[in-house]
Amino acid sequence: MQLETESLTKIVNKIIATRPDEIDCDTCYSELDNFVDMLREGKKAEEVKPLVQHHLNMCNDCCEEFEALLLALDAVEA
Ligand SMILES: [Zn+2]
Repeated sequence: MQLETESLTKIVNKIIATRPDEIDCDTCYSELDNFVDMLREGKKAEEVKPLVQHHLNMCNDCCEEFEALLLALDAVEA
């Protein structure tokens, strides 16, 4: 049982492993406007700013911020 838990932990750690070039929340936040603009212009923001995309996948707080920003911009244009 103990061994199973350990290998499961290893697998989980691999999935959520941090990248060496990972950005933090402040950096993500400062890039977020840009990132959303690109998305809305139909650019492949996840290719232009993969680190922002990566952070959004990892970080619930920033992801919520990102979605709120998208919604807010949609509301402005609607
Ligand atoms: Zn974050």
